[in-house]
Amino acid sequence: MTGPEQRVEGVLVRVQPVADADLIITLLSADAGRVEAYARNARASTRRFGGRLELFGQGSARIGRARGSLPLLAGFDRGPSLVGVDLDYTRLLLCSHAAELALASSQPDHADPDLHAWLCRVLRSLGTSRGVADPAAARIGLELGWLQAIGAAPPIDSCSGCGAPWQTGALWPRSHDGLRCLRCEGREGADISLDDLDLLAALVRDPAAAGGRPTPRGARLLRQRVAGLLDEQLGRRTRSASALDGLETDPAADA
Ligand SMILES: [Zn+2]
Repeated sequence: MTGPEQRVEGVLVRVQPVADADLIITLLSADAGRVEAYARNARASTRRFGGRLELFGQGSARIGRARGSLPLLAGFDRGPSLVGVDLDYTRLLLCSHAAELALASSQPDHADPDLHAWLCRVLRSLGTSRGVADPAAARIGLELGWLQAIGAAPPIDSCSGCGAPWQTGALWPRSHDGLRCLRCEGREGADISLDDLDLLAALVRDPAAAGGRPTPRGARLLRQRVAGLLDEQLGRRTRSASALDGLETDPAADA
């Protein structure tokens, strides 16, 4: 290895096997955005990389000079894990969904500390919880948090129309209009209760930890509207999203 090495701290958001023993890794960092590197022989020898290069791993990558189209990964010093080794299938899907969203909204050489901080927060929340009681609710919190991190979420602590804090719950007539108070919409009854709004704020902060479940009516509406905003931003679904849809058709979730 010749030439200067560059150090990049970040989270592994994609790990793709190539050839017999190599990997292409994609790292999301706070100050350098998305960084891809070629890890030669990474599947055969784990010594240089401080163990296996695994999805959601956090650490400091030593990036060498490019040979071909990608720079070489010279080494990877693993930091403290965000995610434990005992992830169940639901949490694995939610973590994968988060990594895919982070990947989709990141750019090379483009610092995005908000996106990086969001990803770390979500992975730590899911990765250290004992399990997720309500995967659909955790997903709403995760997706709305991502929309906030990329600056595309409506306010959730006040009405999008008049800015007033919530008094009697909220409505959400169209995805891009955001949550609105009853007065702005000229309506009598709320679709999303005050308790649901409190829970929503807690789910955005910590998708796995929030206690309680949203009311079925509130959950259905929130899921639809957040999905609408996600479609506007992504124009496609993440691979994990389809698998998560399968989990959420559990009839007990709507009981
Ligand atoms: Zn209002």
